[in-house]
Amino acid sequence: MNRRQALRTFMGGIGLTFVATKFTSCAPNGGAIADPELASKGSGELTYPFDLADLPYDAGSLEPDIDQRTMEIHHGRHHQAYIDNLNDVVEENPDLQEMTLGEMLANLDTLPSDVRTIVRNHGGGHYNHDLFWKLLTPDDSEPHGELESAINQQFGSIDDFKSEFNDTAGGVFGSGWGWLVTDAQGNLELIQTPNQDTPLAEGLYPVIGVDVWEHAYYLNYRNRRGEYLENFWNVLNWDQAEENYTMYL
Ligand code: MN
Repeated sequence: MNRRQALRTFMGGIGLTFVATKFTSCAPNGGAIADPELASKGSGELTYPFDLADLPYDAGSLEPDIDQRTMEIHHGRHHQAYIDNLNDVVEENPDLQEMTLGEMLANLDTLPSDVRTIVRNHGGGHYNHDLFWKLLTPDDSEPHGELESAINQQFGSIDDFKSEFNDTAGGVFGSGWGWLVTDAQGNLELIQTPNQDTPLAEGLYPVIGVDVWEHAYYLNYRNRRGEYLENFWNVLNWDQAEENYTMYL
């Protein structure tokens, strides 16, 4: 049995079908849900048992824009806790062990309700943070390639885009994420997600994401979320953003 078959079997086992779900979803994106194969790209390809990957740079190397202690606590404690809680629920639900993380998050509505909440919060937390660490770099990085072209076409300029992105992320009420997302046709959009919700649950795919939970910036920036967002661009890995964009096209 391949993964797709396992997914169907799992959904059948709980009395729902993939097609039925598609029309009962109340996602903001017109009820669209993410394609399981596209959702399984990037951080979506992770599978059980989940573990914490090392940061791809030293925790202190993003200073002064993001401080070492914040990175250590955020990665080593917050992200680890999402992984531990996700592993616990998947361990008790063998059907989930056949699915990628992206498939789970793209099909939340098909999961039993007690499982759904944990996968949504902690599976979403694992997905979002795995993606976020890869989007940061201490190295110099500039927009380029297909993503730069698409941003210029849709937002006018990189500076206009950054300003709109920061308005979107800065406007998240409480804890959540600001995103540049794409659909499968390469159309870009700025969205917010609350808590650890992912773009996949709205049928969209992440290109650039920024964590605006206070745990991401409070030690250094206190309540100055806007300043954190301004400095985020100093450590954004545009090569990874380009890779994120083109993998869905
Ligand atoms: Mn976080």
